[in-house]
Amino acid sequence: MQRLTVLGSTGSIGTSTLDVVARHPDRFQVIALTGNSQVGLLFRQCVQFKPRYAVLLDEDSASQLRQSLREAGVDTEVLCGVEALEQVSVLPEVDAVMAAIVGAAGLRPTLAAAKAGKKILLANKETLVMAGNVFMDAVHASGSALLPIDSEHNAIFQSLPHNYRGDMQRSGVSKILLTASGGPFRKTPLADLQNVTPEQACAHPNWSMGRKISVDSATMMNKGLEVIEARWLFNAGADDIQVVVHPQSMIHSLVQYIDGSVLAQLGNPDMRTPIAYGLSWPERIDAGVAPLDLFKVATMNFEAPDFERFPCLALAYQALRAAGTAPAMLNAANEVAVAAFLDRQIPFLYIPRVIAAVLDALPVYPVHSLDDVLGADAEARRVAELQIRQVT
Ligand code: NAD
Ligand code: MG
Repeated sequence: MQRLTVLGSTGSIGTSTLDVVARHPDRFQVIALTGNSQVGLLFRQCVQFKPRYAVLLDEDSASQLRQSLREAGVDTEVLCGVEALEQVSVLPEVDAVMAAIVGAAGLRPTLAAAKAGKKILLANKETLVMAGNVFMDAVHASGSALLPIDSEHNAIFQSLPHNYRGDMQRSGVSKILLTASGGPFRKTPLADLQNVTPEQACAHPNWSMGRKISVDSATMMNKGLEVIEARWLFNAGADDIQVVVHPQSMIHSLVQYIDGSVLAQLGNPDMRTPIAYGLSWPERIDAGVAPLDLFKVATMNFEAPDFERFPCLALAYQALRAAGTAPAMLNAANEVAVAAFLDRQIPFLYIPRVIAAVLDALPVYPVHSLDDVLGADAEARRVAELQIRQVT
């Protein structure tokens, strides 16, 4: 029996995780669930999974949930605040933590889980982008098992030798081929991008996801963040990771070997596949996903990424090469710019401009500790807000 904490259980990854968990009551037990403020959904999840703890961010929502659970006769203890997120990530009775909070808010609890030696199912890519070396050091020091949930990284993980220890050369790996759908604006006339709305940006052709990652997919910053994520997960250099645009999203990524072999993982675009693999690794379990019908897919296409159309991708490579605090600043500026776009304060094309201005304005420092990361994150948010105030 694997005992789980699901951070961000009310989100897209969180609900998909619970969907897989519900299919295997003999294998998984939910110890803690957390959400931002979605009281109704978290209530229904508590009724279904009877966790020992539920966490919400503010006291108002927490007392609402407490009352509903009492009335329903469910004895889940409701905790509140950011410290509680860390608390439920390190509980001695928890074996594995699904890190599915969106954005920088996921960093602290995910890092706490790593320090506590929990098995980590990592969906929150921002943790690795912001604090790659700090996080990987914690994982290595505690001996945590780190399972990538991001579909591309899960595919790479599945396509690498099972005993891969972070040495590409020794494993005969010559390149990591990271696939990208190209998002909803792959073919939109450039002149029209100025006026695209949050609704258009969030309407991804292949995947249904939270709003922040959907906008990231539309700018291809998501792929940029994933390049940085791959750098840390697989100990690869920027030049070892090639982005390949593959609009059908059937191949979830590939690994190229020195003998000419290329191994890939394919499947329908459904996050329950990588989630199930992370949960059951090294075994496999039913994920509720329909089998891939290659005759229906019929054709698969591949294109080189267009760095002019997607400047965010170039900015991510730039930050990766600059190293130190640069990726944390990239991530923070992106979070602020995406929130402003979703709030209709800035046009779509201003997202990369805000990020570029932040990277230009701030010096890069080496990262030795979490404080270095959090300092860079705060500073980048401040400069990004200033940039946004200039347009609004
Ligand atoms: P989402 O917006 O649907 O859900 C986010 C979850 O985090 C919710 O439970 C929300 O309540 C919680 N949350 C938000 N802000 C919070 C805060 N400040 N403090 C605590 N909790 C907070 O997002 P998602 O699409 O499920 O993505 C989650 C993570 O997984 C992201 O890092 C994303 O990049 C990654 N990811 C998602 C997908 C996908 O298909 N959705 C695929 C790959 C990776
Ligand atoms: Mg992905």
